[in-house]
Parts: sequence; structure tokens; C-alpha cells
Amino acid sequence: MKDNCIFCKIAAGQIPSATLWEDENFRVILDLGPASRGHALILPKEHFADLCELDDTMAAKVLPLAKKVGIAMMKTLGCAGFNLVQNNGEAAGQTVRHFHVHIIPRYEGGPKIVAWEPGELTDVDKQQIVEAVRAGL
Ligand code: 5GP
Ligand code: ZN
Repeated sequence: MKDNCIFCKIAAGQIPSATLWEDENFRVILDLGPASRGHALILPKEHFADLCELDDTMAAKVLPLAKKVGIAMMKTLGCAGFNLVQNNGEAAGQTVRHFHVHIIPRYEGGPKIVAWEPGELTDVDKQQIVEAVRAGL
């Protein structure tokens, strides 16, 4: 547990939260500033700043849990789908530096929540990006 990390405290139950699910590794809570009705956050109980730090064993448990919660939301809240959002780094919009996954229910006719304007991929960019990233893997 990291000092002064709000999500460590919430995950440990030291700060009360609206908890949808808890097991030995994770707590799933409602987001305080929801993008839609039911917006939830998966928090590991152990502190990892972001996906780059997340232990691979824990990482392997995250998607099955997101799937379980997302399916439950569709059954019980009436959403027609859901987005998983996971921000890494301030530049990516991460405001709390404790790894978390957003589960955002999406309702028929609801607003666009996770969207961007498509750009263009030039041939030069394509080649440079593929070479650069492949070299870093
Ligand atoms: P990020 O931008 O880091 O991916 O997302 C952080 C999320 O945590 C935001 O959606 C914000 O509303 C939520 N959040 C921040 N502080 C608290 C809190 O104390 N309790 C809960 N339940 N959610 C929080
Ligand atoms: Zn933490």
C-alpha cells in the first residue's frame, strides 16, 4: 500500500466506497464522477501506478473481472454495451496514479462518451511507426 494513495485506501476498505465486487485481489467501486449510470472502476488491492507497473499475474485477472461486471451491468442496468477505458500517464488523462480500469455502461441513444476524430495514416508514418515500435518490443 502506498502512502497518500486514495485508491489504495479505498481498495483496502479504509475509505468507504460503493462496492460492486470484492475479492482477495480487487475491489470494484462506483466512480464518484460517473460518465454514465453505473460507471465503475476496477481497483487492484496492491498498488501499481499504471499498466506498465502492473504485475502480469494480476493483469491476467483484470479482463475476466471486467467481463463479469460488464455482463452483470447489461443484465441489471439495461445498458446495451459498455466501454473499458484504462488511462496510463497524465498525458493520457490518468488523474489517479493507481492502476484502474473504467467500466462505462452505454445506453441506447446515449451520448458519445469514448470517441475521437479519425486522423490519417500516411505511408511514411506507417513505415516509421511500425519500425520504431517493433524495435522497442
Ligand atoms: P483517471 O482519469 O485517473 O483514469 O480516472 C480517475 C477516476 O477516478 C475519475 O473518473 C474520478 O471520477 C474517479 N475518482 C477520483 N477520486 C475518487 C474517489 O475518491 N472515489 C471514487 N469512487 N472515484 C474517484
Ligand atoms: Zn495505490
